[in-house]
Amino acid sequence: STADDCPPDSQTLGRATWTFLHTMAAYYPERASEKQQDTMRALLSSFSQFYPCGRCASHLREEMARDPPQVATRSALSLWLCQTHNKVNEMLGKDIFDCSKVDERWRDGPSDGRCSWAQDVEY
Ligand code: FAD
Repeated sequence: STADDCPPDSQTLGRATWTFLHTMAAYYPERASEKQQDTMRALLSSFSQFYPCGRCASHLREEMARDPPQVATRSALSLWLCQTHNKVNEMLGKDIFDCSKVDERWRDGPSDGRCSWAQDVEY
């Protein structure tokens, strides 16, 4: 990965972007209003047009056409993003992530308390 004062390579950009997307889903409303759902759909759609890796973005658009974003609830959006990330993992030969652990990974931290500082984080 690149030094902090260099532009990101595709790995660093990808990691930072997944951090943003999964964290955003982890703090999405438990039940989103119609307006919030529309806004999230628009965000993901815009995102898939401007993500600055052309190949990644066009792959994401195809994926979203096949399997539209689930935006009604926090858990639905978190699961949809996890599954979408897993499709990229599969394509790249990376490990498949257990989607039942998505809240632990991106919001609550593990039960052994090693990330306990994160338990009452307010962004
Ligand atoms: P990343 O895949 O970046 O994951 C970061 C962390 O997220 C992991 O360490 C793990 O703790 C957690 N995690 C892993 N899987 C999941 C999951 N399913 N759900 C929740 N959390 C998870 N790269 C390409 O070479 N080709 C592409 O076509 C491509 N498309 C991309 C499309 C998008 C929308 C994005 C955001 C990135 C894309 N990338 C692509 C980049 C690629 O996905 C990785 O980000 C990059 O290879 C760095 O991988 P990494 O091993 O650091 O972990």
